[in-house]
Amino acid sequence: MVLRYRRRGGLPWDDSELTVSKKKPSGVRTDARAAPAVSSGFRGAVRLAGELLQFDGFTEDGLTFVSHAHVHVPAEAERLVTSVITARLLGSRARYALATPYGREFSLGALELRMLPTGHVPGAAALMVRHQRRTLIYAGQLGAYGEFYGLAGAVAEPCDTLVLDAPYGAPGRKLPKPQTVLKRIVTFCRKAHGDSVAPVLLCARLGLAQPLSALLHREGFGVQLHRSQHRYLGPLRELGMPVGPARRFEGKLPPDGVLLWPLDLREAASLDAAGPHRCALVSARALRPHAADDFGCHAAFPLSEHADHPRILDYVSRASPRRIYLLPGTPPELAAALRSRDREVHRFGPPAQLELFAT
Ligand SMILES: [Zn+2]
Repeated sequence: MVLRYRRRGGLPWDDSELTVSKKKPSGVRTDARAAPAVSSGFRGAVRLAGELLQFDGFTEDGLTFVSHAHVHVPAEAERLVTSVITARLLGSRARYALATPYGREFSLGALELRMLPTGHVPGAAALMVRHQRRTLIYAGQLGAYGEFYGLAGAVAEPCDTLVLDAPYGAPGRKLPKPQTVLKRIVTFCRKAHGDSVAPVLLCARLGLAQPLSALLHREGFGVQLHRSQHRYLGPLRELGMPVGPARRFEGKLPPDGVLLWPLDLREAASLDAAGPHRCALVSARALRPHAADDFGCHAAFPLSEHADHPRILDYVSRASPRRIYLLPGTPPELAAALRSRDREVHRFGPPAQLELFAT
């Protein structure tokens, strides 16, 4: 099977081709109209029944669409399709990737493909798959307030089938306006300085940390980032994203300093180099009750790169799919909220394969 670019709309192309295995994946049902089947042969991949195309998961004989740079890409992965920005952020792990910009049409065998922005993190894309007048969108994770962070907002297009991963999409989960939360973060940082302790903001490695560093710089803070967050600044700056001049933390914060630090390293000994400090959680997890206590923080701020419940509902209503598949990280309450008389909702448990086109 050959993955082929096609010239459309006068866009600047190259005519590269990527040859992938002709071998049919084992255990895959080839009847595209059969009910969704669960197979133990895949490692976390959602895969189209009878096709080589899989989403955010990896098998030796598959071709993987990588929706965004949070997805763990094995070093040995060779057959990838992703957005240009995600390929840049993945660095050497995407050295064999076929990278295309949003909106460009290309094909894989009989499948017509196009990427759409999801507003989750820089480069995050949904993959729109068209075959015999039926359309599937694998959206992966959607974002909230992407425009506030300088990202393209989520674009929903009508489809028959939608695949979503919505870890913060449960009913009742609603993010406040980011401008309001940013003001509260600024107050937290100034109060910490007033109390002679360093403010430390715990957030994900990629997504919020980089634009937040620019926003806090504008407020007059000397922002520093952990190296795992700082490493993205160069590529993002080259891509024209608003990331500001934050420095990499090397053991010393200035008196007006704010330190951004990965949430999962909050207990690392290297954080002690910041001296007396006060931590705040910056994440959609802040919407949970007792979030600050649960993470050993003084405060929790619900600023997030993830879509909340109203944004998921809005995306679904614009895409208007007849069938929705939710990935395993999605709370079951969202499945119940999305069900209606005309809409089927399924929640996957990994590993799984996917019926492409609902009848
Ligand atoms: Zn993500």
